[in-house]
Formats: sequence, C-alpha cells, structure tokens
Amino acid sequence: MKKINKIIVGTNNQGKLREIRDLLPKNLVIYSPSDFKLKSPKESGTSFKENSFIKSKFYSNKTKLICLSDDSGLQIDLLDKKPGIFSSRWAGPKGDFNLAIKKIFKELFKIDKDWKNKKINARFICALTLYFPGGRNFSSVGKVEGLISNKKKGRNGFGYDPIFIPLKEKLTFAQMKPDIKFKIDHRFSAFEKIKKFF
Ligand code: IMP
Repeated sequence: MKKINKIIVGTNNQGKLREIRDLLPKNLVIYSPSDFKLKSPKESGTSFKENSFIKSKFYSNKTKLICLSDDSGLQIDLLDKKPGIFSSRWAGPKGDFNLAIKKIFKELFKIDKDWKNKKINARFICALTLYFPGGRNFSSVGKVEGLISNKKKGRNGFGYDPIFIPLKEKLTFAQMKPDIKFKIDHRFSAFEKIKKFF
C-alpha cells in the first residue's frame, strides 16, 4: 500500500488540529481548511461517524486532497447521552465552553439536585474518516470512559477537558500534561485503527 504523504485535516477546531497533528507522522505535509479559506459544512448527520464522513468528503471534494476528519463529543449517561453530537453546538456561535459547561451543570442539577456527590458516568467519542478523492473511505470510532467532575479543573486542552476525569485517574483532562491526555483519549484510540494508511 502506498503511504499517504499529503493530507488535509478537515477541522476548523484548533484544539483538535493540534491533537491530530501530533498523531500523524512528522514528515507528512498537513493542510487545514483555513489554508483554502473553507468554512465547515453543515453537520446534518445523526451519528459521530456520519458527521465525520460528511466533513471528510466535503473537504476532499473541495481540495482534491485526501482528507482526515474528526467528529467527536461528550456523552453523559444521566443526560441521555447529551450533549453528544451537539457538543460543539452547546457552546453557542462563539464557541464558549464556559457556557457549555454551565449548561451541563444546570441540566444535571435539574435531574438530580445532589449530582455533585454522585458518580456521573460519561465518555468522549471520536469518529475519524479518511476520504480519498474518488470516494474510497474508511471510518473508525474510539472512546474513553470517565466521570464528570463537580467543578471545572485545569487549564490545558480545550472544550470539555476541564470537567472530564478518565476512569482510574484523579485529574481532569485539562489538568493533565497534553502528552499524557493524548495517549489515552478517544482520538488516539480511533487513530490506532487507521494508522496503517500513514
Ligand atoms: P465537532 O466534532 O466539531 O462537532 O465538535 C465536537 C466538540 O466536542 C468540540 O467542540 C469539543 O468541544 C468537544 N470535544 C471533542 N473532543 C474533545 C476533547 O478531546 N476534549 C474536550 N472536548 C472535546
């Protein structure tokens, strides 16, 4: 199999772009949608996998490059797996994750006033799709199980990292050094299944 030497990473999220760059071989030429002044397509799918496919196909068609796209999010069991595929939309048009996290705390409180003293099970899910010009494509899904912290902790990472504590750990993703989070997260486990292409 011919190894890929050039790719567009189909995301406008800087946090994701940084993490995906770290997963890819160092000699790979990596473009991002901003290099082509491309906005994100509408995420009309009903699953992480469908949305990652939509993004990957869109950026590959626009640029004629092989595209790797990610769709990811946080599922909280007590909230019927919300925010799920709406994880970025809960942060509003400005991508304000203080707002999204407040909303999560508010929704948890509505269901259980004592939620802060309980174990709130959650997981991050990541679907990756590799889309080749012409239509060949491969998707994989990875996840990491954990608990919701009863307050925001840490300054590293992005998005919901300050409230997610992976199982068997004490620190939130935002308290961990990036190279520690990187090896246990949902993106890493999804990438394991498609890394043979690189
Ligand atoms: P989308 O895949 O662009 O629709 O956005 C997924 C949203 O989920 C992002 O905006 C992040 O806030 C959140 N998310 C996905 N992966 C992570 C992660 O590793 N840490 C924190 N938040 C994440």
